[in-house]
Amino acid sequence: MVFPSKPYPCPYTEAVSIAENLDRVREELAAACARAGRKPDEVRLMAVSKTHPPASIQEAYAAGQRLFGENRVQEWQAKAPELADLDGLEMHLIGPLQNNKTGKAAELFGGIDTLDSAKTAIRLNSAAASLHRVLPVLVEVKLSPEETKHGVAPAELPALLDEVAALGSLRLAGLMTVPPLEAQAGAARPYFRRLRELRDEHCVQHPTLRDLSMGMSGDFPVAIEEGSTIIRVGTAIFGRREPV
Ligand SMILES: *Cc1c(COP(=O)(O)O)cnc(C)c1O
Repeated sequence: MVFPSKPYPCPYTEAVSIAENLDRVREELAAACARAGRKPDEVRLMAVSKTHPPASIQEAYAAGQRLFGENRVQEWQAKAPELADLDGLEMHLIGPLQNNKTGKAAELFGGIDTLDSAKTAIRLNSAAASLHRVLPVLVEVKLSPEETKHGVAPAELPALLDEVAALGSLRLAGLMTVPPLEAQAGAARPYFRRLRELRDEHCVQHPTLRDLSMGMSGDFPVAIEEGSTIIRVGTAIFGRREPV
């Protein structure tokens, strides 16, 4: 391969497009479903757009992507106006929700996927009620004892599920987890399996508890094999993030 000698953007190292990345992720999603004996439409692909500009979201949307995830309320608040004309774009919050942001979150997001306390649930429910909406939520479960991780401990999950289920303006849609950082790829499997077991255990009492949001760029095929219904993929679609 001959590289250009001038410092122009190098065509050989040019990043592949978001549309091409999406195609590849969709293929890998379908292949993992086939291995697991599941139908590809049982698993939704969420494109995680945090730190990426509105233009990248637009590009993914043009390639057919509709479900997106952002980590911070303010970041989405800043990007949303530019994307207001994208019909059917569904943005979920996948980062921690502070109690003073529940009002904005209920207004700006199509779903909150990181609910982990009754206090936040009650505030979010009032916010959704005053907007006359029913907001789908996932409860985030913490499956490792790491201090820094968000989420409710499995022992406290039953009580939280009961509380959330009793709130009329929230719809308890499922569970979400982020395995510990050191559990890369295949090592995350036990965490994914545990989340599915918890869902299976609690969906008897809470029949709307259906979704399992688990699996990211490095491990989503494993998560699909373990029953994931929503994979959250950032890097494999949008490329590397600048450190923040
Ligand atoms: C950033 C993020 C993702 C996406 O991670 P990638 O490794 O870039 O695919 C998924 N879930 C959560 C909660 C995140 O914060």
